[in-house]
Amino acid sequence: MLKFDNRFIKELPGDPNPRNHSRQVQGAFWSRVDPTPVAAPRLIAHSPEVASMLGLSEAELQSTDMVNALSGNGTLPGMATYATVYGGHQFGNWAGQLGDGRAILLGEIIAPDQQRYELQLKGAGPTPYSRRADGRAVLRSSIREFLCSEAMHHLGVPTTRALALVQTGDRVVRDMFYDGNDEPEPGAIVCRVAPTFIRFGHFELFASRGESALLKELIDFTIKHYFPQLLPLQDNERIIAWYGEVCERTAKLIAQWMRVGFVHGVMNTDNMSILGLTIDYGPYGWIDNFDPGWTPNTTDAGGKRYAYGRQPGVAQWNLGRLADALSTLDIPSEDLQGALAKFESTYAVEIKRVFANKFGFKTWSDKGGEIVDAAFALLSASEIDMTIFFRRLATAATVDDFKDAFYLDGEWATEREKFAVWFGHYSALIAAENDEENRVEHMNAANPKYVLRNYLAQQAIDAAHEGDTSKISELLDVMRRPYDEQPGFEGFAEKRPDWARHKAGCSMLSCSS
Ligand code: AMP
Ligand code: MG
Repeated sequence: MLKFDNRFIKELPGDPNPRNHSRQVQGAFWSRVDPTPVAAPRLIAHSPEVASMLGLSEAELQSTDMVNALSGNGTLPGMATYATVYGGHQFGNWAGQLGDGRAILLGEIIAPDQQRYELQLKGAGPTPYSRRADGRAVLRSSIREFLCSEAMHHLGVPTTRALALVQTGDRVVRDMFYDGNDEPEPGAIVCRVAPTFIRFGHFELFASRGESALLKELIDFTIKHYFPQLLPLQDNERIIAWYGEVCERTAKLIAQWMRVGFVHGVMNTDNMSILGLTIDYGPYGWIDNFDPGWTPNTTDAGGKRYAYGRQPGVAQWNLGRLADALSTLDIPSEDLQGALAKFESTYAVEIKRVFANKFGFKTWSDKGGEIVDAAFALLSASEIDMTIFFRRLATAATVDDFKDAFYLDGEWATEREKFAVWFGHYSALIAAENDEENRVEHMNAANPKYVLRNYLAQQAIDAAHEGDTSKISELLDVMRRPYDEQPGFEGFAEKRPDWARHKAGCSMLSCSS
């Protein structure tokens, strides 16, 4: 049984209007809203780790009451459903009120180990924050969110989790590429789990409206429950320390994205977690051939604002918008700028550590830095699979061991010599600096063999559309142990096949979901 204790709605004021219609909500943090029931809910995948983290047995999870709760068709004792209000900067512009337009919280539970988690259904129907949209989510994007949340966790990247994936039995109409082709698609709901889903945009909204008392209340709530170590500090000092910690956590998060080749795709400030978690899996993607300018998001194809290589800069910009919001509380901007500088300093340390680990250097050195820069120049100049390249690095005996990391045979032919020279320098440095017998083990722990390649997720989606949902759990099983060699499953570590190069869902995704 889940034990609910919903602090967000117990401690923060809510919207007195009980009706569920799109509107601007002021003077409140949340609105009561019931999920809209669905036709024929079916639990098609779940995460055993999240279930046990929450104290749910397999039988409890699969029970009719639980599946009904996970699909919006029923309530559990103690559950209280609501949506929260936030704003955000989207693609660099202030977008005003956004809010949980298709996410409905079921409440906060206390797990057996006394940790607390919020449960949230994504795609459970309209809320006061849906604007003109339907509050629903399609199966393809829900499979992607479910799988990636768990894959990221197993990779060791901070993230919201996913308990369950329910197919609703209803159809949802979407125009996948915004080109006038509406299509009915199967609908689904993911149950997400995190200590809190509070985003930068929550703070920005109250600041934008000049609602300083509410902004202060939300900061106090956040610090009290999620950053309690800062409570001994007072007033502005406490807020500045908290903001500095958000900057540090965000820097660590982005360094991890860069390590595993993850591209979020929509780093709007409403998609930035105050806890430094990866949140809101939309048109995200994984780097196949190493290209810092790549973004999976077709909606961003023009500006490539959220491309892989731009993620650190964008995170910093987003933190700047959070600082702007805090500056409305008469906090000296020099102090906020000083705390924001922690982003750069933390990121610099973290990314060096990440690269030292990926390349197998015991410590960071100038010489190592030159070799890393040279490697990235080579990787960028031709189409080379990032994941395979790094995984091979630990055990490669000759440059020819990198041949099948190349996407184009012709490029291998022309680039091989340059690689051979680089590999010579690299091997010499490793021989001189790293006498560790556990070097391969350490490198393998930084360089996953299995990542949730875009085409793998798409194959699971295609099968689910044909009625076979077993591929989702199969894929999740492999992604549970991304750093292990998994004999018999090498197929999941292969580079993107040619058919996937320009296929929708594999190399291009839109925000339509
Ligand atoms: P996103 O770009 O997915 O982070 O969403 C931006 C905003 O649009 C958030 O406020 C979402 O809740 C809202 N939104 C996205 N899709 C829908 C939908 N189908 N129905 C209602 N609101 C949505
Ligand atoms: Mg979002």
